[in-house]
Amino acid sequence: MSETPVPNHFIRQIVLDDLASGKHAAIATRFPPEPNGYLHIGHAKSICLNFGMAAEFDGRCNLRFDDTNPAKEDPEYVEAIKEDVQWLGFQWAELRHASDYFELIHRCALKLIRDGRAFVCDLSADEVREYRGTLTQPGRNSPYRERGVEENLDLFARMKAGEFADGSRTLRAKIDMASGNINLRDPALYRIRKVEHQNTGNAWCIYPMYDYAHVVSDAVEGITHSLCTLEFEDHRPLYDWCLDQLPVWNMPELKDELDRLGLKPGRPRQIEFSRLNLDYLVMSKRKLLALVNDGLVAGWDDPRMPTLRGIRRRGFTPEAIRNFIRNAGVTKQESVLEFSLLENEVRNDLDARAERRMAVVDPLKLVITNLPESHDETLTMANHPKDESRGTRAVCFSRELWIEREDFMEVPPKGYHRLVPGGEVRLRGVGIVKCEDVIKDANGDVVEVRCTLDDSTRHGLPGADRKVKGTIHWVSAKHAIAAETRLYDRLFSVADPDDDKDGKTYRDHLNPASVRIVTAQLEAALANVAPETRFQFERLGYFVADRKDHGADRQVFNRVCTLRDSWAKAAK
Ligand code: ATP
Ligand code: MG
Repeated sequence: MSETPVPNHFIRQIVLDDLASGKHAAIATRFPPEPNGYLHIGHAKSICLNFGMAAEFDGRCNLRFDDTNPAKEDPEYVEAIKEDVQWLGFQWAELRHASDYFELIHRCALKLIRDGRAFVCDLSADEVREYRGTLTQPGRNSPYRERGVEENLDLFARMKAGEFADGSRTLRAKIDMASGNINLRDPALYRIRKVEHQNTGNAWCIYPMYDYAHVVSDAVEGITHSLCTLEFEDHRPLYDWCLDQLPVWNMPELKDELDRLGLKPGRPRQIEFSRLNLDYLVMSKRKLLALVNDGLVAGWDDPRMPTLRGIRRRGFTPEAIRNFIRNAGVTKQESVLEFSLLENEVRNDLDARAERRMAVVDPLKLVITNLPESHDETLTMANHPKDESRGTRAVCFSRELWIEREDFMEVPPKGYHRLVPGGEVRLRGVGIVKCEDVIKDANGDVVEVRCTLDDSTRHGLPGADRKVKGTIHWVSAKHAIAAETRLYDRLFSVADPDDDKDGKTYRDHLNPASVRIVTAQLEAALANVAPETRFQFERLGYFVADRKDHGADRQVFNRVCTLRDSWAKAAK
C-alpha cells in the first residue's frame, strides 16, 4: 500500500530551517535504546522519527545502544532490537554502543577535572541526597567540592584502577547547588561499579552516568538533532552545559581515538517530543516483564503484547505501524491514542494486500441432498476482489460443506438474513440453497442442516441473479484442512488499565476473553502457506499463519483483527 506523504511537524520544520540556513549540510540522528528489554510500539515512534527524518533528508541515522548500566543489560535484547528495527523497515548507517566511547568519555572527564569543572566526591549516596536540597530548597555544596585539580586527578585515576569500593566515591560536575533545576546541582558523572559489562567485559570498573555519556556520544558521532522524549526536557540545560565545557570537535586530546573509531564530531541540539501512549495497553517495560514472568501472557512475543515482536506475530504489518505513527504526528502534547486507529491502519493495508480465502471457525455441517455423494467440482475464485492481477484459485465444492454455526438459526431474530428452516441463502460462488430439514443430537442441538441447491441459480447461469438477502461462506468438508486458530482480542478490557483506582491495578483489568482457541476448517488452498502469510478469511477478519508454531505438520493461524471495529462503539 502506498504510504501517506510526510505531514510537517515542529521537528521537521527545525530540520528544514537548519538545512536552508546552511547550519548543517546534512543531518544525523540516532535511535538510542537501552538494551534492557524488548522494543514496544512506543519505541516505534522514536524509530520512525529518527530514521524517517534521516531518510527523507538524505542524512544518516545510527542505532546506538545506550549501554551504560552494565548490570541490567543483556545481549539477547541487543539482537532482538536489531531485528525489530529492521523489521519495521529501517537500516542504520552505523551500529554503535555508548560503551564504544568509554575511552573518549573518560578523556572528556579528565578535561572537566583539569578545567576545575568536576571533582571527586566522597559523600555516600544517602549524603548526596541530603545535600541536594529539594524543589523548594537550594542544595548545599559538598565538603569535597573545593579539592584541588591534582588531588582530583589522582583520586579519579585510583577510582579507575579499582582501589575503592562500589559507591564509595563519585565524580561530579561542579555546576550550581543553588540552581532551580535539580539536574544542575553538581550531578554525578561517574560511579564505581565492579561488574562485567556485556560489551567491554572487565576493562572498566567506573561507568559514566546516562546523561553525561549520552551527550558525549551524540557529540562524537556528529549527531545534529538529538531527539528524545519530554521527560528529558529538564535535562537539556545539563546537556548544553556539557557541550559548552566539552567542544569535542575541537579537543586535540581526542583526535587519535576519534580517528580510530572513524568519528566526525559536531555540536548536537536536543529536541524533545511527547511519548506515544495507546489505550487498552500498558507500555512500561516493568509491567510487560511482570506479565511475562507471571505467566499472564505466553511470552514477549505473545500476539496480545504491545512489543514489536508481539505485534509482528499478531500479523500487523510494518507499513500499517509506520502509517499509524506518521498520522499521529509529532508534538509536545501528551496524549493517549486509540488502539482502534492502529487496527484501522492494519485493515486498510491488509484489505489492499491480503488474498481472500474461505474458512469456517465454528463449523456446522450442511449437506446438499440433491447432489450425489460422489459430487466433486472445482470452482474458480478470484484471490482479490479489487485486484485482478492477484489471479484466481481452485476451490473444491462437494455435497457436504462446513458453514459457520452462526449462519444458521432455527428461531431467528428479526432482521436475520442468513439460513433459517425453509429459507434460502446464497453460498458464495455456488448458488442458492434452501433449508429443507435439520438434524439434531440427543440434546436437541442442531448438528446438520439439509438443503437443496437450486440448479438454475448456479454461478454464471441467468438465474444466478435471483436475489436472496444473505450470502454465506463455506468450506468443502472432505477437502477441508483442520487448523488451530487463535482468536485474539484486546489484552485489557478497559481503556486505561494503568489507572489504579478502587485498589485495582492493571492486572485486575486483563480481558478474560483476550484469546479463544478453536479448530477451524480451512479451504484446501490454505495448505502449506509460509509462516507470516496473511489472508482475509471472508466475512471473519484478517488472519496470519503463526510465525512460530505454524508448519507442515501443524497449521496455526492467528486472527490479526476483525473486519470491523467492535470496540470503538462499545467504549462510547
Ligand atoms: P520504557 O519507559 O518503556 O522502559 P525507555 O524510555 O526506558 O522505555 P529506552 O530504551 O531508553 O526505553 O528508549 C529508547 C528511545 O525510545 C528513547 O529515545 C526513548 O525516549 C524512546 N521511547 C521510549 N518509549 C517511548 C514512547 N512511548 N514514545 C516515544 N518514544 C519512546
Ligand atoms: Mg530509558
